[in-house]
Amino acid sequence: MPSHSSHAQKVDIRMRGFARRSTVEQTLEWIDQNIPSLRSESVPLEKAAGRVLAQSVVSEVNVPGFSRGMMDGFAVRAEDTLGATPYSQIVLEVIGQSLPGAAFEGQVLPGQAVRIMTGAPIPTGSDAVLQAEYVEIRSSQIVTQSAVAPHRHVGEVGEDISVGATVLTAPRTLRPQDIGVLSSIGVADVEAVQMPRVHVVTTGNELLPAGSKPQGYNITDANSPMLLSLIRRDGAQVTHAGIIPDDPEQILKALMADVDIVVVSGGSSVGQEDHVPMLLAEHGELNIHGVAMRPSSPIGMGRLGKRLVFLLPGNPVSCLCGYDFFVGRAVRLLGGLGHDWPYRKRNYRLRRKLISVVGRVDYARVLLVDGEIEPIATSGASVLSSTTRADGFIVVPEDSEGYAEGSQVNVFLYD
Ligand code: AMP
Ligand code: MG
Repeated sequence: MPSHSSHAQKVDIRMRGFARRSTVEQTLEWIDQNIPSLRSESVPLEKAAGRVLAQSVVSEVNVPGFSRGMMDGFAVRAEDTLGATPYSQIVLEVIGQSLPGAAFEGQVLPGQAVRIMTGAPIPTGSDAVLQAEYVEIRSSQIVTQSAVAPHRHVGEVGEDISVGATVLTAPRTLRPQDIGVLSSIGVADVEAVQMPRVHVVTTGNELLPAGSKPQGYNITDANSPMLLSLIRRDGAQVTHAGIIPDDPEQILKALMADVDIVVVSGGSSVGQEDHVPMLLAEHGELNIHGVAMRPSSPIGMGRLGKRLVFLLPGNPVSCLCGYDFFVGRAVRLLGGLGHDWPYRKRNYRLRRKLISVVGRVDYARVLLVDGEIEPIATSGASVLSSTTRADGFIVVPEDSEGYAEGSQVNVFLYD
């Protein structure tokens, strides 16, 4: 495991280049090993959709808790209808009714029937429902021309959920219908994984606040709104320090937020104004600095107190790529979501060759054209619109020189 921390604590790493880059694989391993154990909290049902279930739920009740009619009609003893045909009609006496929430209290004896509505309890003695459409009603009697089988149109006790059944298995992102099922078994609160708390610190003297018109030599912050959206997508609660000048004291203060993960945009490299790696090395640990990948190679990560700190390059494409490879993984793992990328993966034929350099992982943006894909020509890390024009990306492994035209490759789709 590469650890530059002991070194970096004493030596000013700025303007010297990266001593040694970690591989993507080593970096992912570092993340997996440094994720704190998950915490859970009780969440009221009405706020639980979309949350990750931390504890499997076992039902303490049967649903339904009583056998019930599944059709509007008449509850009967099936045996009473045996042999009913248009030529040999059977007449039954209607002795009352069973409504949802208002059961018929008596007993159905031979030759008797009880009018029943969908969802109403099946009266004692009866074991089937004759559909209203199939009987003729004559004041207090019904006439049937057909027999009904036992249990017909009867919902049995526990048919939906039985006592002791595991209704939902953790971990699982709760769907609206899960909330419905939980409510049906009398659960009012669920144990959900706590949402990770993530703080975004955007550095750069040249930056104007998100949404303002770029002016003169200033550029508008593209990374913060993008990062906030990515972090929310991955199920975390996010706060933003705002834009912090390239000033070590102010940056350090912003890093000290009471959160699980701090994400810094900009100043992650080895330039004169890149203070963050030094700050992290001095006040915490800089465990990874520089990763063999493109874009996003000048990325860093480490720890500051209990926080995990990620240093993302300011170049917007690097920022996006670095987030998706590393920060997103940490956020999702800490939120109980597992390792998988939130992108669908599909196989496509490459229309043009894709060149890659051995020794680093490439994040290549691609376009979908007529059911095939082609690499996007402008691939500079500063061209964020390349990711907007792209339909997805290919991850070219470290040991690959790329792919020939016509090869089948796996594409991660943004949508
Ligand atoms: P840095 O990583 O701070 O050296 O920045 C690398 C490049 O990304 C520079 O051209 C910066 O102006 C640009 N940049 C840094 N932060 C942002 C940001 N939040 N939004 C857009 N561009 C940025
Ligand atoms: Mg900067």
